[in-house]
Amino acid sequence: MNYPARMNLSARVSSLKASSTVAVMNKAKALKAAGADVLNFSAGEPDFDTPEPAKRAAINAINANLTRYIDTPGDPATRELLARHISTTSNIPGVTKDHVLVTAGVKMALYLTYQTLFDLQPPGQEQEMLLPVPAWVSFSPMARLAGAKVVELPTGPEQDFKITPAQLKSAITPRTRALMLNTPSNPCSTMYSQAELEALAAVVAEAASTIAPEMVVISDELYQNIVFGSVPHFSIGSVPSIAERTITVNGPGKSFAMTGWRLGWVSGSGEFGKQLVAGLSKLQGQSITCVPGFSLAALRSALTECDAELEAMRTAFAARAEVIYAELRKLPGIKLARPVGAFYVFPDISAHLGTHSAKGAKINSAADFASALLDEQQMAVVPGEDFSSLLGHKHIRISFACSLEQIREGCRRLGAFIAGLNRA
Ligand code: PMP
Repeated sequence: MNYPARMNLSARVSSLKASSTVAVMNKAKALKAAGADVLNFSAGEPDFDTPEPAKRAAINAINANLTRYIDTPGDPATRELLARHISTTSNIPGVTKDHVLVTAGVKMALYLTYQTLFDLQPPGQEQEMLLPVPAWVSFSPMARLAGAKVVELPTGPEQDFKITPAQLKSAITPRTRALMLNTPSNPCSTMYSQAELEALAAVVAEAASTIAPEMVVISDELYQNIVFGSVPHFSIGSVPSIAERTITVNGPGKSFAMTGWRLGWVSGSGEFGKQLVAGLSKLQGQSITCVPGFSLAALRSALTECDAELEAMRTAFAARAEVIYAELRKLPGIKLARPVGAFYVFPDISAHLGTHSAKGAKINSAADFASALLDEQQMAVVPGEDFSSLLGHKHIRISFACSLEQIREGCRRLGAFIAGLNRA
């Protein structure tokens, strides 16, 4: 007998939202493949190639037959290198190889972390994850899948998209299990300063000694190396009072142009970090077993032999940030924060809601705006809805991981689109 026509997927998966960034990226690629002159500003990945030394290292490792399973958390040499790297570049104390787990991308690092932290609880009693928004689209669905209730802390361009200590303090409850931070931020490209993070850390330390003893901080620092100078990167896990309750995730994908290698890592400090990594490792062992050993040769090379390539890419992103910020600021009804790290801008387009496009499409949300922009100007951007249920409909995300030429042409097309909007 055939399987019933309608397959019953698990409730967990049926209720899971598909990634909107991946959806726009795929639509833009399909239009382009069909011959349309589409400018793609949706991709969250560098347009550069992986540095040659990293590629060679992986090819050599394959030729040396490093093609078998490796230790579940990653081979000891790579974890030792990562522990040194984390200690020196992020100043996080108490990190040895036993405090580090190598994962298949930062996405998997977060997935394993959420599954390891949150317990499934009856409705109304869920553990809470505080999430400053706008935030990257996958934090919330992945945490909810693990059983968390996600509590959004709203921010806007006027406060540089950053939460304040008072805002954090008033959001913490006895059910708070985690604060999720991401600096530099996708989609906002703003960064917390050392002083700002120390002030947030003080609030966490105080709450941990009173109402939320099991509260942790999860810090996604994937864009740590893509910073443009005005705000130095700072790791909140380096603050001694909360080092042993901070989980830091990072990876080579964005800064070394290695998105397709699917590499990332999780680390923690002291006894807390050791127990965390043991838990994560158990879960990795029951899911993917380990990451491919030959790809770790590329990771070691990236971290030790590719400084010049890293700097060249960082400089290119910095120049692009200046151009896109200057060009977008000239457009009417666009409010945005200056990008100081990562490679996105997240303009507030709410001045243009309630209009019609040149071809008559109703523009009542960011999704309408992005859809008409793609249809009428062949410019692909990600609508903001999935970056925040509270504020997303007022924003679009534009990735500037593309050439200066494309950035200038994109800003021209966006300007033409806005000029064609009417309030009739
Ligand atoms: N965190 C953030 C903030 C990101 O922007 C992304 C990718 N867009 C990820 C995690 C996932 O990274 P990876 O490709 O290494 O899984």
